[in-house]
Amino acid sequence: MAKNKKKFKTEVQELLNLVIHSLYSNTDIFIRELVSNGSDAIDKLRFESLTKPDLIDKDTSLKIKIIPDKESNTLTISDNGIGMTREEIEANLGTIAHSGTRAFLDQLKESATESPDFIGQFGVGFYASFMVADNVEVISRKAGQASAVKWESTGDGSYSVDDAEKESCGTDVILSLKDDKKDYLEEWTIKKIIKLYSDFVEYPVVMDISREETPTDKDGKEIKDTEKVTVIEEETLNSMKAIWMRPKKDVKDDEYNEFYKHISHDYTDPLTKIHYLAEGAIEFRALLYLPSKAPYDQFTRDERKGVHLYVKRIFIMDDCKELMPEYLRFVKGVVESNDLPLNVSREILQEDVLLKKIQKSLVTKVLSTLKDLKDKKLEDYLKFYKEFGPVFKEGMHFDFANKEKLQELIMFESSKTNSGELVPLKEYLNRMQSEQKEIYYISGENRDAIEHSPHLEVFKKNDVEVLFLTDPIDEWVTQSLTEYDGKKLKAIDRGDIDLDFVKDKEKSEKTAKSDDKKYKDLVGHIKSKLDELVKDVKVSARLTDSVSCLVNDEFGTSAHMEKILKAMNQDAPPTKRILEINPKHPVIKVILTMFKNDKKNKKLNDYIELLYDQALITEGAPIKNPLKFNKLISELMVFEGKKLTENKA
Ligand code: ADP
Repeated sequence: MAKNKKKFKTEVQELLNLVIHSLYSNTDIFIRELVSNGSDAIDKLRFESLTKPDLIDKDTSLKIKIIPDKESNTLTISDNGIGMTREEIEANLGTIAHSGTRAFLDQLKESATESPDFIGQFGVGFYASFMVADNVEVISRKAGQASAVKWESTGDGSYSVDDAEKESCGTDVILSLKDDKKDYLEEWTIKKIIKLYSDFVEYPVVMDISREETPTDKDGKEIKDTEKVTVIEEETLNSMKAIWMRPKKDVKDDEYNEFYKHISHDYTDPLTKIHYLAEGAIEFRALLYLPSKAPYDQFTRDERKGVHLYVKRIFIMDDCKELMPEYLRFVKGVVESNDLPLNVSREILQEDVLLKKIQKSLVTKVLSTLKDLKDKKLEDYLKFYKEFGPVFKEGMHFDFANKEKLQELIMFESSKTNSGELVPLKEYLNRMQSEQKEIYYISGENRDAIEHSPHLEVFKKNDVEVLFLTDPIDEWVTQSLTEYDGKKLKAIDRGDIDLDFVKDKEKSEKTAKSDDKKYKDLVGHIKSKLDELVKDVKVSARLTDSVSCLVNDEFGTSAHMEKILKAMNQDAPPTKRILEINPKHPVIKVILTMFKNDKKNKKLNDYIELLYDQALITEGAPIKNPLKFNKLISELMVFEGKKLTENKA
């Protein structure tokens, strides 16, 4: 096929511009990226060859070769891995497959200048080449195919694809180095970078090293007074020790961190690691990491690097979903087992009993590590929780077996914390009032909205702590977490509230009882007027300042849940709620008098509607007829205003 010039997808070009214009201060990492790609490609070839042994010639040693050429000013990174077809090369190097790239780039443009680390959430991989090269050529031949293809670009908006010749399968990435990047042709620079970033890569990363040597005779003795000769030898630059196979005490933190970056394609150091060897009934090795930052698209991400599975030193896949439940999808790492068959397929994996056992052990380890962090390094735990809490809490719903452990790990803000501070359930329990039987919570969009909720009034007044649930997932959490340590969780905007345990509280319950009688007829009247809108009308025991509020009965869908379902485009049947009125509020007292004097007073009906609207407004919900609402308020303002001015006159 003929030479073909194509434009990059807009996203790629934007990303390239960011990469070229100094997103990273450390340009050395392009070597790590290209070596990683080479090693991934060899992994894939080895895996394919399990079923198609002909793909690998038995005399070929799989490796990545670095070829600096000072004459042409090029640095080539060459691998004999799986290679790419024409279609693959275009799809992989002309577009960005990750979802959410657009949103990411917009965010990146805003924050890149202040926080270059932000890029860490997004591997630019191959494109890192353009930090150091003004022209990049990729020549690739797919394993099992005879033809090769050449991709070329200067990073200026377009690339070309052309037919090419290549002796064997694999990929050569040829970088024409920028004038100020020629240092990357130096032997010691390359050696240093490989040692630092790619030491653990499992295949040899080799380079031809030339040495001046004095010739020797047949006995190996140096021949004196002869000219030195140049000897070129291929040298392996990395130790290739699979880091998870090494004893923990021999691995340095830096090595752990670099390995994490290699497998996760993340650029920031992990928060912590878990490295262990399971022995006994099941044997396997695991090296897991908890990242320190959540990916920007952790909820939508469909393609990810999770826990890599190895069987007998052979890479099987880079996101073995069967090893980690969904709610721990942020965990990265490697698991190697020698007891699984090499030719495992997805279907086999799903059914595999051994894998289920490994998963169980991994989950236990992750949870105990988190507990340790929480107990011993709370600051780190809070970092983790801030980043992954919303995903982690899904476990409360899905991982019933670990419910008890998870309960100890979840935290919420509360009416007694400052904004952003979290309380574990145990701590809530410890500071509960002595006779308190329930754990109170309220859910809402954010702290601000919750703090102004009328439902909170009586709790604040009586110093009773209420948990604030502000993550959308919390609505599901409370469906599973109905009880903790024998105490029921109780939403304060549902059903009846019983604050009898409060010692010196105002006798709200008792007054409410006597108020019930006093307001019985008025309540009946309001109910008949608002029949279409509310399920019931009650005299409130929870309001102290506000005039009215809406509450659910014990099992209804909360207003917050309705909002969430709506945002997810799911129909939530509108649930009628209960209107509570505050008997101590002057407005209610006035309405009672109006009602007693003349039930048919037109204004009485208007005010009843206002009571309902006010309840909606306090919870941030839209009212039905804003025009009418405004008209009534204006009337009241005129009336009140007139009174004030008349009094003055
Ligand atoms: P990432 O490696 O994070 O997926 P890259 O931009 O580095 O992102 O690479 C994009 C894709 O191009 C890779 O996922 C892989 O499919 C393909 N690719 C890159 N380099 C090679 C290579 N040396 N051999 C085979 N495929 C490669």
